[in-house]
Amino acid sequence: MTTDYEIIIIGGGPAGLTAGIYASRARRKTVLLEKHGTGGQMALTWEVENYPGVEKISGYDLGQIMERQARSFGLEFRSVEVTGVASDGPVTRVSTTEGELTCRSLVIAAGARSNRLGVPGEAELTGRGVSYCATCDGAFYQGVPVAVVGGGDTALEEALFLTRYASRVYLIHRRGEFRGTKLLQERIAAESKVEPVLDAIVERIEGADSVTGLTLKNVKSGAVSHLAAEGAFIFVGTTPNTEFLRGFLPLDAKGFVETNPNLETTVHGVFAAGDVRAKVLRQISTAVGEGALAATMADHHLSH
Ligand code: NAP
Repeated sequence: MTTDYEIIIIGGGPAGLTAGIYASRARRKTVLLEKHGTGGQMALTWEVENYPGVEKISGYDLGQIMERQARSFGLEFRSVEVTGVASDGPVTRVSTTEGELTCRSLVIAAGARSNRLGVPGEAELTGRGVSYCATCDGAFYQGVPVAVVGGGDTALEEALFLTRYASRVYLIHRRGEFRGTKLLQERIAAESKVEPVLDAIVERIEGADSVTGLTLKNVKSGAVSHLAAEGAFIFVGTTPNTEFLRGFLPLDAKGFVETNPNLETTVHGVFAAGDVRAKVLRQISTAVGEGALAATMADHHLSH
């Protein structure tokens, strides 16, 4: 049976874009499906400094370059949302908001999105002081105090970025030590505008029309306190974008896609790459490597 494409790639972050470059260079008829603009979470990063070969670049610009490069090899892009995937023998059917597409090999590179904290005030004040993107919203907080919640690489990086604007950056973490890279921890310690608030959880984000502060609880003493801040930037991890895969593929307890070392899933001819995959390290450099491998394995699958 003929299919619309030989390879379909779901997701336009660094994993999907790299898969697109490799699949197009293998001269496979390939389309990349993306519901937002290309770049994925990388596009929201102000500055990338650990992608080898490029000392400093904005995540948005890096995504634009990758897209240009993929287009130059003939990759087709479609702006649609994927709603479901099903297998029909050797044919994979991808349902989208604009109809069904078929392929013989699929690369899932759908990435992950920011978790919500799940406290009172968060949903009500999102866009009015509560934010999940310092690069997008940081400039609105010129000369005022803000809070950053989380202790991973994202929280530490974004806290440092916010010192460009805010008068003070409270970095609220639920444990006594940060999870993020030691280099970022050193920078946090050296930055006088950042004040770590450790062993603390957020009980509520306060404000009527906009954020005015946070109610915190010390997890060791149980003491409840009020912190005045006009912004609350939440960086408490990510959830994979895999809802559309339920019933098609087994996912791990957190919803990530499991693969073998060649990035193949339990469905023959279906591969996964990047942050959507169950793994220990989520970086642009790992996403890129996986995108290359997934597309190469998809190409081999088609050949054999
Ligand atoms: P992460 O590494 O999973 O860290 C999430 C942080 O949020 C942890 O400190 C966690 O606390 C805290 N947290 C989770 N749930 C919470 C809750 N309900 N209340 C309060 N705190 C909560 O997530 P991430 O920082 O977004 O990073 C995601 C991945 O991208 C990681 O692999 C990271 O290394 C990578 N990344 C890399 C870079 C870089 O290399 N420059 C930049 C950004 C992201 P605990 O520590 O107590 O678990």
